Amino acid sequence: MTAPHTMFEKIWERHVILTRGESEALIYIDRNIVHEGSFHAFGQLAREGRKVRRPRQTIATADHYVPTAGRGQGLAGVSDPEVRGMIELLEKNAAEHGLLHLGIDDPRQGIVHVVGPELGFTQPGLTLACGDSHTSTHGALGAFAFGIGASQLKQVLATQCLWQKKPRTLRATVDGTLGPGVGGKDVILAIVAEIGTAGATGHVVEYGGAAIRALSIDGRLTVCNMSIEAGARAGMVAPDDTTYAYLAGREYSPKGQDWDLALDHWRTLPSDDGARFDREVRLDGSRLAPMLTWGTSPEEAAAVDTRVPDPARMADPGKRAHAEQALSYMDLKPGMPLTEIRVDRAFIGTCTNGRIEDLRAAAAVLRGRKAVVAGWVSPGSTPIKRQAEAEGLDRIFRDAGLEWRGSGCSGCAAMNGDSVPAGMRCASTSNRNFEGRQGKGARTHLMSPAMVAAAAVTGKITDVRMLLR
Ligand code: SF4
Repeated sequence: MTAPHTMFEKIWERHVILTRGESEALIYIDRNIVHEGSFHAFGQLAREGRKVRRPRQTIATADHYVPTAGRGQGLAGVSDPEVRGMIELLEKNAAEHGLLHLGIDDPRQGIVHVVGPELGFTQPGLTLACGDSHTSTHGALGAFAFGIGASQLKQVLATQCLWQKKPRTLRATVDGTLGPGVGGKDVILAIVAEIGTAGATGHVVEYGGAAIRALSIDGRLTVCNMSIEAGARAGMVAPDDTTYAYLAGREYSPKGQDWDLALDHWRTLPSDDGARFDREVRLDGSRLAPMLTWGTSPEEAAAVDTRVPDPARMADPGKRAHAEQALSYMDLKPGMPLTEIRVDRAFIGTCTNGRIEDLRAAAAVLRGRKAVVAGWVSPGSTPIKRQAEAEGLDRIFRDAGLEWRGSGCSGCAAMNGDSVPAGMRCASTSNRNFEGRQGKGARTHLMSPAMVAAAAVTGKITDVRMLLR
């Protein structure tokens, strides 16, 4: 009888080609997604005279640099020559290597971590790599998915394999039932606040428990997305009927008899009873409140009904020094209620919270209300934009006074120019609140789409549960 295995171990063992030393292995990479930032890797391939080994296993999508305004003109509407050059270079590289390319005006275009699941390109039991740290997102479908650097991307493109150190495993169990106004973003912010930005370093996190199982795939994608903010190599949720219903009928999903065979395999993936994890973390989901970040690290997060922490009360000297610097940058005073923080901007989008359920949650708060601050909504993909428009969500955002934009990374890292002016405070659904992430001097508070909508209509951090009543 074999020892009980975790889901990660099952996937890892099926993909090891050969091992080196105690913990390094050459693993097979089933799927790969590239965006504009892949030009270094394609440049290296060209210099070495190599081609992409398995072009059907890589797709390309334009997301980091695409403008979100004026999209009706396609590439012709991109006035910045540098931005335009990045978008064109991806198209050229994809064409040269025979990759499916979702360009700026492709109806399937979107953010890497949105289009993978949306196309069914991401599937349970697969290994998936991408040159973006939030590749952990795809683990929500039961894949082992992780971010890679430029030289690793070249290796994947050229060989479809990658040397990897075997990560350890951490199980994060969220028990109970989430209350109204509390969702995936609040769960993951609470976990990162609990274990810290280095809490899962070197680990693959498997999320489980009643609160995770009750999440939709959109919610699970949000949770896995921010695994990297706790230092994790990847995040995963075991596939179940919710996963299978989500994948059924998607472009890349298996069809007919292949679907039945895939289901048989997928059902073997969840961790065995008695499987041993290197570390365990447990949270009571029923006690969670809507969360937001007050500082400049994702772990500097707290429940909306609490106060800005006092660094002087922090025992860890490193955390104290970081908090002091964060409060200075964020212009906040220790002890002030979080709900007294005024905001200047609202941003809804990104691979963390730019999916249809995110837009519905924000629209539910904004319906019939007016935003008192400027802001914009950028759907995670063009199909999500179309779906939101079919549901009339775009009208709710526009009527509230927010801009309804095209799909892309937008204000997540502001590479396309969608930045927040210096000194301004943005309620944002993105995943990183580092100094300058949304623009030089910009102050970012991470929170859920419903919480951003609540902040937009009141002009300050607001407990969205008050508006839902
Ligand atoms: S939205 Fe942000 S985290 Fe997601 S792929 Fe784009 S830049 Fe990366």
